[in-house]
Amino acid sequence: MLWRVYKIKEYINITRCYKCHAYGHVSKHCSATQTCECCSSPDHLHEKCPTRTKPKCPLCTRFKRKDTNHSVRSKECPEYKRQLELYKDKVQWT
Ligand SMILES: [Zn+2]
Ligand SMILES: [Zn+2]
Ligand SMILES: [Zn+2]
Repeated sequence: MLWRVYKIKEYINITRCYKCHAYGHVSKHCSATQTCECCSSPDHLHEKCPTRTKPKCPLCTRFKRKDTNHSVRSKECPEYKRQLELYKDKVQWT
């Protein structure tokens, strides 16, 4: 059984749009403006972000969370954690 659990863990791949950074859809189906995943500005992309050291999560900003001080890619993002829980619910662990 162990190897199966390992495989499922490796396979965790939550759909996230790289344009608007929302979970649950891909950029192909997204009509939103692409924003920086680091500071959520629409003026530049992550590679050119001038505020890399001061991340501002676009998702947590959108959901008006208090803690926006992280990148949207961060494992610490509460929205990521929430999606991870939802994802785990869907996966059959048996
Ligand atoms: Zn999107
Ligand atoms: Zn930026
Ligand atoms: Zn966040």
